[in-house]
Amino acid sequence: MKTYGALEAGGTKMVLAVMDEEGNTVRQTVIATKTPDETMPEMIAFFSACSVCSLGIGGFGPLNLDRNSPEYGCITETPKTAWRHYPLLQAFREALKIPVGLDTDVNAAALAEARLGAAKGKESCLYVTVGTGIGGGVIIHGKPVHGLMHPEIGHISVSPLPEDPMPEGICPYHPHCLEGLASGPAIEKRWGISARELPPDHPGWEIESAYLAQLCACAMLAFSPEMIILGGGVMQQKFLLPRIREKTLKLLNGYIAHPAVSEGLDRYIVAPGLDTRSGITGAYLLAREAEGE
Ligand code: ADP
Ligand code: ZN
Repeated sequence: MKTYGALEAGGTKMVLAVMDEEGNTVRQTVIATKTPDETMPEMIAFFSACSVCSLGIGGFGPLNLDRNSPEYGCITETPKTAWRHYPLLQAFREALKIPVGLDTDVNAAALAEARLGAAKGKESCLYVTVGTGIGGGVIIHGKPVHGLMHPEIGHISVSPLPEDPMPEGICPYHPHCLEGLASGPAIEKRWGISARELPPDHPGWEIESAYLAQLCACAMLAFSPEMIILGGGVMQQKFLLPRIREKTLKLLNGYIAHPAVSEGLDRYIVAPGLDTRSGITGAYLLAREAEGE
């Protein structure tokens, strides 16, 4: 049986899967992200034992995805210092001697959602994860956008709200970027309680949905994706989606004349179709694409 390796490389955990040609998961394991010296041999042993014919990686970043650069496939300026400038792609290629495909974790998730999930059949979409950080993958004409590097939509500036008791946010780079104001850790810092425990009627959720609505309106105006998919731990709070839709409509203020907007964005700003499997499924699709290389 022909199998493919898929790796969702996260800052806290690595999800490793082996999938068959139909996309069924044959084996899966999760290991903690320690240093490359500790974690890489474990991952290489897993994929090697399964004799996968190619590997796809959706990785935390930022990543160098410029195929003409000598640093292609390296992690760049991550706060996880042990992984800074680590040649992730090259290390797997050399150890496993198989084709390896790499993209950002969120581009991989966006790809999976566009091919097989909520945005199936669409040419474009934005996938955003709201978790420990905020990241977004963009698909245009069916392909992940790289451009200069890759989008870092979590770090766009948003307008701080007058009712926000922590309007400066927590991003070490930017005084009021989306990630610094609306990630899980930002919620926890602002209210002294984890996002998981913040009650649904807490005013914190109004602030949270207002910031995420700014992102949605901005994305619609900036590059007009055919769908916005919001995933990640914080979005497990199911009451958030309708609040974000309502606030996005207010921000757009009738400016975008399209049925998706007049319908109330119910089918436009949505939860992932692949639930929590978008990332690993995207990594599998990258493995399939790398196979021919
Ligand atoms: P990661 O971003 O590390 O891959 P998650 O997407 O689960 O993982 O994000 C973790 C963050 O999301 C934490 O800050 C946590 O407080 C928050 N979170 C996780 N689950 C929930 C939940 N059910 N409700 C609200 N917040 C959650
Ligand atoms: Zn930032």
